[in-house]
Amino acid sequence: MTSLHSSKLIQSACAYCGVGCGVLIETDGASITGVRGDPDHPANFGRLCTKGSTLHLVAAQTDARALYPELRSERGAARERVSWDSALDHAASRFAEIIHTHGPDAVGFYISGQLLTEDYYVFNKLAKGLIGTNNVDTNSRLCMSSAVTGYKTTLGADAPPACYDDIAATDCLFIAGSNTAYAHPIVYRRIEDARKANPGLKVIVVDPRRTDTAREADLHLPILPGTDVALFNAMLHVMLWENMADTDYIAAHTSGFDALRATVREYSPEAVAGLCGVPAADIITAARWFGKSPATLSLYCQGLNQSSHGTDKNAALINLHLATGQIGRPGAGPFSLTGQPNAMGGREVGGMANLLSAHRDLANPAHRAEVAALWGVDSVPATPGKTAVEIFEAVARGEIKALWIACTNPAQSLPNQTLVRAALAAAEFVVVQEVNAFTETAEYADLLLPATAWGEKEGTVTNSERRITHLQAAIAAPGETRPDWEIAADFAQRLGVLQGKPADRLFPYTNVEAVFNEHRESTRGRDLDITGLSYALLDQQGPQQWPFPEGAATGKARLYADGVYPTADGRAKFANPRYLPTAEVINTRYPLHFNTGRLRDQWHGMSRTGMVARLFSHVETPALSMHADDMARRSLKDGDLVRVKNPRGELLVPVEASEEMRVGQVFMPMHWGGRYMSGFGVNTITADQCDPVSRQPELKHAVVQVEKAPLP
Ligand code: SF4
Repeated sequence: MTSLHSSKLIQSACAYCGVGCGVLIETDGASITGVRGDPDHPANFGRLCTKGSTLHLVAAQTDARALYPELRSERGAARERVSWDSALDHAASRFAEIIHTHGPDAVGFYISGQLLTEDYYVFNKLAKGLIGTNNVDTNSRLCMSSAVTGYKTTLGADAPPACYDDIAATDCLFIAGSNTAYAHPIVYRRIEDARKANPGLKVIVVDPRRTDTAREADLHLPILPGTDVALFNAMLHVMLWENMADTDYIAAHTSGFDALRATVREYSPEAVAGLCGVPAADIITAARWFGKSPATLSLYCQGLNQSSHGTDKNAALINLHLATGQIGRPGAGPFSLTGQPNAMGGREVGGMANLLSAHRDLANPAHRAEVAALWGVDSVPATPGKTAVEIFEAVARGEIKALWIACTNPAQSLPNQTLVRAALAAAEFVVVQEVNAFTETAEYADLLLPATAWGEKEGTVTNSERRITHLQAAIAAPGETRPDWEIAADFAQRLGVLQGKPADRLFPYTNVEAVFNEHRESTRGRDLDITGLSYALLDQQGPQQWPFPEGAATGKARLYADGVYPTADGRAKFANPRYLPTAEVINTRYPLHFNTGRLRDQWHGMSRTGMVARLFSHVETPALSMHADDMARRSLKDGDLVRVKNPRGELLVPVEASEEMRVGQVFMPMHWGGRYMSGFGVNTITADQCDPVSRQPELKHAVVQVEKAPLP
């Protein structure tokens, strides 16, 4: 790809969702003056959605920036500006003291899928390699960890096997738990294009709500919350009954099918129709379209992942692809859509409590030894680290005493906010490394460290289709802001001195490319081998998909075309999931299902999109969506203020009738925090029960009661 620096167009990628659209940043050298879609980027070919096309308006909001380190002398005191030396020396001294007194697991790091891969790599090495704790986890735990465990359970590796081009090549698109039109708009544009080009393309959407995506489908299955496994098992039941299974593929490339076949015998469409809340005939139609199509592609996201049985839901869907041989061919395969821009990159460097570099597993002694050798440390600790929700529970219990939060806003985004806020208030020492000085989490910072923002930093991200893009800095960093990887490495140096450890040898990086090169070497021989990539190659040839080993001319568009899987016997493994109810079950006291999801024009906790006035033109204020019958039963009319209550707390919010909702279910967008509504916002009442394998919380379901609020 030609360098565009001279024309003041800088190559980058969108800072929002995992579609990973290429962006050209327009700059006058001092500021970011505009953005446009990169016509050469294979993720979007020049298109941007409403969020991506306003990135420059966020960059222009400099008033909210954290520009200098700030430290408070004691709780309750105001933070005061300090030098970087003072800030990081103080942080190193507090961490060293706590580690010396209470051990390495008394500290923790909570990082973000918004960080670049290089940032993630350094934080992971800092925690696991230098300090000796696996207490490093990420907000990607909230969006993707069930997709990871779903892939690993069945296909053997955390690797989405399909690519965006498969949307144009498929004959049946099975969209489960994804409002693609809102959450991944540029992927949805591809779906619209594919339908125009192929009028025979069948689109099935599985979603409790009649979203924009569901409304446009050929078949919408509005299942009751949490019944996905029952639905998928029933579809497999039909496929077997009607001889749609690819018995040759099953025999040649899989294991474990007999046990699954025995299980799905009891999941006839008639048996599960009432449980799932959809007609048996629609389940049969979905199974026929999926199973008989020349090529079926599944797109799925938080509806499967944010569940106390997310691993099972992912695996049950992948079972359908394995049973019908719908994988490894153009237009066929299971394809998880990634929520955040670099949730994939974080997984690649092992930036989660249970992972190690290059898709290695913490639980595997050989993998721990390999990473210790790569890093030049004696060992990597075997004790499992705390995952996202667990970190804050451990802080609340006083087990984790010092917490470092980078590039994420847990005081808005984690479920059960009352517990999260109490934990942050009780922690002995909280470091917040942020672009924006005014997030809900920054209020709890004893030490606020200013980080460079999108457009000011260099590094790489990986999107949903395993494609790595090299982002370049368009403008100089303002104030005393520093790149996230550099802050972490500088802190590591100082902590190492206090602990008598060779941190200068472990963190020798003089620039961000040195971090990338070390990460690249860690992938040698692994499923995501990128030893053939370099910053120079990414700049010259454009974004590339992994694997891209040394000597390769290109990356791989799709995986498992040869039917060989990265498992001990080379076979994909059928999971054998059974339906289990949601963690919370409706009852007379809390009779309604509460669901959360995205708006089209907002992003996460709105710390960025909330700065752009035009992004409120789609939806201006928070509201609870409810079926008209449920409103009538409570004598409610549009705009009435209601209390939405459960044992974790309550919200005060206007209600509105919505044709998207089924009777018995209510919905609120995930974005609205305490700045826009009562209490701590929507996550006051969301559930923090987690999937037992992925440890992803069930943000998509809680039980609530809704009552008319008395007039003040
Ligand atoms: Fe950004 Fe996602 Fe929109 Fe693309 S689809 S412009 S990556 S928010």
